[in-house]
Amino acid sequence: MHILQILIFLLIYLVSTSECFVPKKILTYVIEKVDKNIQYSLGYASESIVHEDIIKRGLTRSIARYFAEQPNPKNKIDLSKLDNEYLDVKNIYRDYYGIYYCKLDITNIISDEFQPEVASVDFDDETKDLPSAHFDAEQFKESNDRVINYMSIIEGFLSIKDYRRARKFSGKILHTIHDFYSHSNWVEMGNTDRINTEIGTTNFNNLKVVDKNERNTCDNNCTLYEIKCNTILNALVNLIQTIGIRTSFINCPLKYYRCKRNLVILDQLVSGFYAGQDAVKPDGMMKCSHGGILDGDSFKPAEGGINKDSGYYVFSPHAELHLTAANLAINHTEYFFEQMRTRIGNEEYAKFLNLKVSSSIINTINNYIEICGAISNLKSKFLSKFDQNTQLIRMAKFGDQKAEKMNTFKINWCNNVQCKETWSEKCQRINL
Ligand SMILES: [Zn+2]
Repeated sequence: MHILQILIFLLIYLVSTSECFVPKKILTYVIEKVDKNIQYSLGYASESIVHEDIIKRGLTRSIARYFAEQPNPKNKIDLSKLDNEYLDVKNIYRDYYGIYYCKLDITNIISDEFQPEVASVDFDDETKDLPSAHFDAEQFKESNDRVINYMSIIEGFLSIKDYRRARKFSGKILHTIHDFYSHSNWVEMGNTDRINTEIGTTNFNNLKVVDKNERNTCDNNCTLYEIKCNTILNALVNLIQTIGIRTSFINCPLKYYRCKRNLVILDQLVSGFYAGQDAVKPDGMMKCSHGGILDGDSFKPAEGGINKDSGYYVFSPHAELHLTAANLAINHTEYFFEQMRTRIGNEEYAKFLNLKVSSSIINTINNYIEICGAISNLKSKFLSKFDQNTQLIRMAKFGDQKAEKMNTFKINWCNNVQCKETWSEKCQRINL
């Protein structure tokens, strides 16, 4: 789609629906579609890694470690693949079992549960403007208490084997943990390679946190950038105004700050205030803002902000530190799941994430059909009978009342009903 068509589509969509949106994600998506010149004028510093990517990367590392530490492993897991091939969890299974599974419960759990839950905290009415859900507005103790509470809720659900709810609360609280790294000054304090393992424990209260009466946490050491709007940026500004997020500061020309060394305090934890939240940025003080064009209060002293949420300065005054913060968040996600694995043991961990593959015929056939994509129309068909002795599979269209039109497939199962990576080499299709 052309960029203007995308914007028009989004405008219509937003006007016609009352559903909430994750504006930043959409705007980043739109910006990714525009040409390089506009990207640079919006302050491109690096790629942007969103909560959904962070949780997936941290979790797949932990899953790879689970398989690597199995007693008497079927095949060896190569931990040097942790941050490349193993980002796709199917490759972990492929290396471990020697089979390429196309359908795994864990891939659905990641895409349908963990990723929506971790993102939802930014647009659920209960949490989107709640500083303690995002380590905002200097609410460190409150945010950490929230993590502690969620951890005990997760423990509770695990103890009654309600794994789905345990996953839901894990996704939600990991959002808060991620935000610690992009919303606070932890990275600027010099912790570029160290996660804060006190988060979620009472030891966190021993860390030095800025006093709420401290008047001066940031200075104005920020540069204001103004961009003239062309057609596309005009449409973008209209889009933001239509959504009506938090602020009416967004006008053409577009204005945003880039900030370097604007943090005054680097020996105590500080975070920024975000316009529209329950804790308002105080007047007459030089408190840090969250910053970015969606934060209207970042235009009042101390101007600018400190967030590292994205790789664009237009959203993040500290965009050059975005990847550092995102990597710490990935490391902490891995730590979170590894801590849980240590606590509950491998057996329970596997149940929590549904890691075991079922060797049922249905599961095998599901995988088989998926792998042999050449017959992808079979996905919508229903397995009606499986005769293992004659290796005959009968399939009929699911929901099709004229089921007499049965297709018959004879399948030469590879390696005892297990499909290898390609259809053509090992499997043969007969009577299609
Ligand atoms: Zn957040």
